[in-house]
This record gives sequence, C-alpha cells and structure tokens, in this order.
Amino acid sequence: MRTHFSLILTATVGLLACSSPVTPAAATADSSATTATPTTPTTNPPSSGTPAIYSHFQSAVSVSLDGSTVVLRSNSVPDHKSPYWGAGNALYEAPQSGMSVNPFLIVSQSLTLRVPASPAVASTTSDTPLGPIGMAVNGVPLFNQYAAQRQPLTFEILSFDRYNGHPQQAGQYHYHMEPAWLTGLNGTSALVGVLLDGFPVYGPREVDNSLPTGLDSCNGHTHATADAPAGQYHYHVTSAVPYISGCYKGSAGSVG
Ligand SMILES: [Zn+2]
Ligand SMILES: [Zn+2]
Repeated sequence: MRTHFSLILTATVGLLACSSPVTPAAATADSSATTATPTTPTTNPPSSGTPAIYSHFQSAVSVSLDGSTVVLRSNSVPDHKSPYWGAGNALYEAPQSGMSVNPFLIVSQSLTLRVPASPAVASTTSDTPLGPIGMAVNGVPLFNQYAAQRQPLTFEILSFDRYNGHPQQAGQYHYHMEPAWLTGLNGTSALVGVLLDGFPVYGPREVDNSLPTGLDSCNGHTHATADAPAGQYHYHVTSAVPYISGCYKGSAGSVG
C-alpha cells in the first residue's frame, strides 16, 4: 500500500511539474556532471558601469554590459548537492526525509537574461510569467509561486530538495522559494539574485536581522541598502506566497 501511494504521489508531482520556455534544443547533457565537486564559489569582479549588485554574482555567471542592458549568462545548474544530480554524480545526495523526488534530472542548459542596468519603477506592475523570472547569484533561474497552469505549488513543494530547488521536464533546475544554499552560505540578508526587471532580490532578513516591513504585492519595498546607499526598490524572499515575487515592479527584460 505504501509503495502504491508513493507511485501515485510521484506521478502527481511529475504531472504538475512547471513549464518553462526552454526548448529541448537548448538542452545538452552535462558532460562535467560525473566529475563535478563542490567548490568555494568565487565572485565576479565589478566591471565599470555594471551596478554594484552584480559583484555578488558567482563566477559561474557571466556578467556583461550591452549599452543600458546587463547580460547574464549561466548554464542553469546549481553549485550544491541535490538528489536531482542522479546517483553516481559527485554532487548527488539522498533525498531528505519526506521528499517526493520528481522523475527529472538536472540538465545543463544555457540561460541568458537581459535586464535593465538602471531599473525603474513602472507605472503599473505586471504579473511574472511561468519559467525564469530572474537569476540567482549562482546562475540558477528563479521561478514564481506557480506550477503549470498557474496552479499553487502545493504538490511541487514536496519535490523540492533541501535547498528549495528542483528540475522541470527539460531538466532545468530552478528555485521557487528561498535558495537555502545561498542564504546559508552568504547570510539571510545577502543578495539572492536579480529579477528580469533589474531589481535585486535579497534574503528574508534586513542587514540588522529584522524582517522586512511594508512589502508590497510584488514582495518589495524601497530603502537604503549596502548596494544602494541612496535607496533602491528591491524584493525580499519570504516564507509565504509569493516567496520571491509574483509581479515585476519595473519593466521586465528578456530571457533567451
Ligand atoms: Zn518548479
Ligand atoms: Zn529591504
């Protein structure tokens, strides 16, 4: 009976796996997967004209400036352990208690985000779509609070590894919630990533360890930060919906 239930649950989680605009042609087998080992992440040196937040991005992310646009390139894969690397991979670890592993494995695939270098609050907010809505500092795409057909993540949450990530059908690994690997490594107030509108995403705490106050419907607010002493709009990851952000406060760039 237990096995039967487990099969049904796995099938349900698989069916509900979220969609993404990544095409199969963009996916390639990760030839380095079997030799990958965890390494201490190195960060990108700031380059002239690039906003300060990008100095926090790890070297796995290529950051360049194209006019008034910041171009971020990664291979989408996490730099930490997960059951989704598959048994035999150096970064494989067994599922944590209670986890219902979905049927997909991590597949390296190129991800390019083009975001405004000087983000501005738009006159109206816009709903975030399914698929990548931003990039974490380790190159993993950030997704919103929905599964396919914009259903709640109720069942998908069961398939998250202990860092709150999982792959979708094409093997693209992503976070819908706080990337616990990054906040554990860098602190709960550190930069987590950036959304497509160019606004930064910070951890669940402010630098004084307080919880963010006055978050709007997009999960953001404006005040001075270490990266923007004059004050800037930014998102925070939260333990409740929308977890990262359900809407863009600025004008979204593009995903390629
Ligand atoms: Zn997902
Ligand atoms: Zn804040």
